[in-house]
Amino acid sequence: MKPTLQRPYVPPMGASRPIVSPLMPSVAYASDDPDRLDDLYEGRDTGHSYAREGHPNADLLAARLDAMEGLTGGIVTGSGMAAVAAVLLGLCSAGDHVIGGNQLYGRSLRMMTEDLPRLGIGVDLVDPTDLAALEAALRPETKLVLIEVLSNPTLRVADLEGIAALCKARGVLLAVDNTFTTPALLRPADLGADIVIQSVTKLLAGHSDVTLGWVAARDPALNERMRVFAVTTGMTPSPFDCWLAERGLATFDLRFARAQDTAAALADWLVEQPGVQRVLYPTRPDHPDHNRALALLGGQGGNMLSFEIAGGRAAANGFARAADGIAFAPTLGDVGSTLSHPPSSSHRALSVEGRAALGISEGFFRLSVGLEDPDALKTCIAAGLVAAEAAS
Ligand SMILES: *Cc1c(COP(=O)(O)O)cnc(C)c1O
Repeated sequence: MKPTLQRPYVPPMGASRPIVSPLMPSVAYASDDPDRLDDLYEGRDTGHSYAREGHPNADLLAARLDAMEGLTGGIVTGSGMAAVAAVLLGLCSAGDHVIGGNQLYGRSLRMMTEDLPRLGIGVDLVDPTDLAALEAALRPETKLVLIEVLSNPTLRVADLEGIAALCKARGVLLAVDNTFTTPALLRPADLGADIVIQSVTKLLAGHSDVTLGWVAARDPALNERMRVFAVTTGMTPSPFDCWLAERGLATFDLRFARAQDTAAALADWLVEQPGVQRVLYPTRPDHPDHNRALALLGGQGGNMLSFEIAGGRAAANGFARAADGIAFAPTLGDVGSTLSHPPSSSHRALSVEGRAALGISEGFFRLSVGLEDPDALKTCIAAGLVAAEAAS
């Protein structure tokens, strides 16, 4: 059989059309002739050329995420960390100074403390609930402040409005990683953030089957710099991941509301359980930033809660083993609840004293609440607490 010329299948567009976005994995895009390529590169017409530079599924997802966060011109990246890198490495240069929240996501902290200094960028970490500390850390060469509004894992609430006003007054860019809070709790761009970051991997995609990030700035020139940096360094997302995330976004509001209701109920229930020493949930009256949480998050507390049990590592092992209906896994935002133990995972690099300073003991757990029946979760956690008591 003689080989024939390969032509792609183009679906017929007759009297009907698909109701779901097509998945378009093409790496290259053909044009009619060099003049049409000029039209593309010079912005007289739309289209794509090579998938690392951009592709339709990423564009579709970026437009949805932009709308949710109230921004335009955002870019989708292959992971949340790629989005963090697009900000820190794509916008900062040798000689600049950057301030980070002292309880940022572990890899973000690592990029700040290991990679930025290697490139000649100065870094200070401060507690973002303490505006005076942040002000004291500002220098003439401070270029950017990066914070998360709900810290991991103690769920402290940053003084976003204070920090935004301070950054504006000093001409410093404010970047907010909105992964824990999501646009359901807070739209940082509406409150003065210049740049917003998401790990789409977590609550937005929501099914623990994609790794993606998103970042957008209010200033189109910053978006363009990050886009060029992302293309040059190959931060390109997979079309299939973008397609899955678009599907996940369709149910984000419903998933978030349900998980949040369950988390609030579980927090109140956990406080009453024997062996539970402390519960951290932003809207509870015993939370250290309760008033700020109410004002900033509109009375909502999100789907994350943390708690501390008595009895040290032996009790923690017993709890995780017995509460086996909840995946003991280092992620968050999945349809299923996931349990993490910061002393042995995200915060293992810290000394015991370093963890103690943050209020993280061996009995500290973080729960990302999913969509299960709340009573089933209580039964599972209760079994964990009984086992923890027996083990300690
Ligand atoms: C997970 C996470 C990231 C990194 O996202 P990846 O998609 O895993 O690369 C960044 N920030 C926060 C707050 C996260 O939870």
